[in-house]
Amino acid sequence: MNKVIFLFGLTLLFGCVSVKSPEVIVLNKTLERKVESTKPKLVIGIVVDQMRYDYLNRFYNKYGNGGFKRLMNKGFNFKNNHYNYIPTYTGPGHASIYTGATPKTHAIIGNNWYDKFEKRSVYCAEDDLVQPLGTTDKAGLMSPKRMKTTTFGDENRLFTQFKGKTIGISLKDRGAILPAGHSANAAYWFHGANEGVFISSSYYFNSLPKWVQDFNASNVVKSYLKEWNTLYPIDTYTESGLDANTFERGFKGQNNFPYNLEALANSKKPYDIVKSTPYGNSLVADFAIQAIKNEALGKDDFTDVLTVSFSSTDYVGHNFGVNSKEVEDTYIRLDKDLERFLNFLDDEVGQGNYTLFLTADHGAIDVPSYLETKNIPAGYVDSKSIKNKLEDFTERKYNVSGLIENVSNDQVFLSSEVLKANNLEKNDITNSIVEVLITFESIYKAYNNKTLTNAAFTSGFEQLLQNGYNQKYSGDVVFAYKPNYISYAKTGSTHGSGFNYDTHVPLLFYGNGIKQGATFNKTEITSIAPTISALLGTSFPNGSSNLVLFEALD
Ligand code: ZN
Ligand code: ZN
Repeated sequence: MNKVIFLFGLTLLFGCVSVKSPEVIVLNKTLERKVESTKPKLVIGIVVDQMRYDYLNRFYNKYGNGGFKRLMNKGFNFKNNHYNYIPTYTGPGHASIYTGATPKTHAIIGNNWYDKFEKRSVYCAEDDLVQPLGTTDKAGLMSPKRMKTTTFGDENRLFTQFKGKTIGISLKDRGAILPAGHSANAAYWFHGANEGVFISSSYYFNSLPKWVQDFNASNVVKSYLKEWNTLYPIDTYTESGLDANTFERGFKGQNNFPYNLEALANSKKPYDIVKSTPYGNSLVADFAIQAIKNEALGKDDFTDVLTVSFSSTDYVGHNFGVNSKEVEDTYIRLDKDLERFLNFLDDEVGQGNYTLFLTADHGAIDVPSYLETKNIPAGYVDSKSIKNKLEDFTERKYNVSGLIENVSNDQVFLSSEVLKANNLEKNDITNSIVEVLITFESIYKAYNNKTLTNAAFTSGFEQLLQNGYNQKYSGDVVFAYKPNYISYAKTGSTHGSGFNYDTHVPLLFYGNGIKQGATFNKTEITSIAPTISALLGTSFPNGSSNLVLFEALD
């Protein structure tokens, strides 16, 4: 696109000369080559699952020069980058990074949600019409069909007449499938259990490529079923809390280093434990390197897209909490994997031939039971009690039962059948539910579908709720807990809210077409996809925000 506009401009510039001189033609050719060569041969999107922004700074002195620091110091660092919707979960996060849209538009409104049409809980990547590949387990019954808009990879596929490849890789199915998009060549995710293999589904092809079969046969995963101790002496880990504390779950009751993974593994599903250690990230890096080699990514003039999501950070965070030594060690080790991966890219694709970004799908909360010990307002909610209270309330007030069909993901779904049979006005009911919800101790905000559909919120928490609200798929009432209140176990961290600990995530751009720099200007997660599209000169994803982070572009 740029080329066409530029050459047209050049023709206008020399338009006064009736015939183009040979010099102009030569100039045209040179410029044409220059414009052509500025495109990256490979775009790599890296998502670090549950990475808070402050981890870049908290563990900075523990990082080497070739991993996070290389991206921070040689690339462009957006230091005030946030999720712009609620809920901040893995499925919506990955979909939003790559589509440039929010759940309001791409329709991945949770990891799981209550589907009011099918009247059951659905999973964001489930698809029982496909066949599993590499396993017979239902872990392979996955596709991106519930995501309703395109990714930047999809637009690149259309633009290049499907000559530029897209491949998605993660431990988690949703971390591989949603980023890769609808027209991807492949998505691979890890099936631990007693198999320890990367799998896929017939959505992409009829059998796994030979290199994937070879990787699985090599049983690399087994080499990671070893001891997990801190990489450096534990007394140097001064950036995190005590190793022995009451805020961690751990493995089989053990929450202190070192961990003998082979002994701690579930005997029926021995490979699952690898996911919850830094070695799960190493395994993903191993596999991503093989993908680049064997699929010849970044080797021709059609830009390829590789999406890599490191999920172990999330499993470790959920298990041990954001202030744990385990999280610190996981990031120190991820930094090493990142360095290995970047060095490989330099050798295989060539420095200057690739563009990379690194971000996260959400942040995470400090363990509320820990915060309480420091007098910071925090607490726990029993989400089941909310449904019970609302059932009691509506039964008393309207003298009907079964009106509350489902309460999940901080949303209330009313039964359209019960509403109709009793001639009840939906708006009256949802208004009274909002009024009663807001009296609950743990609840900070509540809005009904009418408000979220008719009002146009332009800032603040209400805008986050609205951006996460899909008129077609979301519930009739949406609510949010107070800051630092979670519906979760009293050990470990989680995420999902619209507060800074969940919304503030790293955003680093690096490589071809990217300036060196940093900014504290506030940016939003949905700007990543249009920025990559702008860099590639393709159409923007069809539901994208269209906000380009031009500060970072050369
Ligand atoms: Zn996640
Ligand atoms: Zn998580």
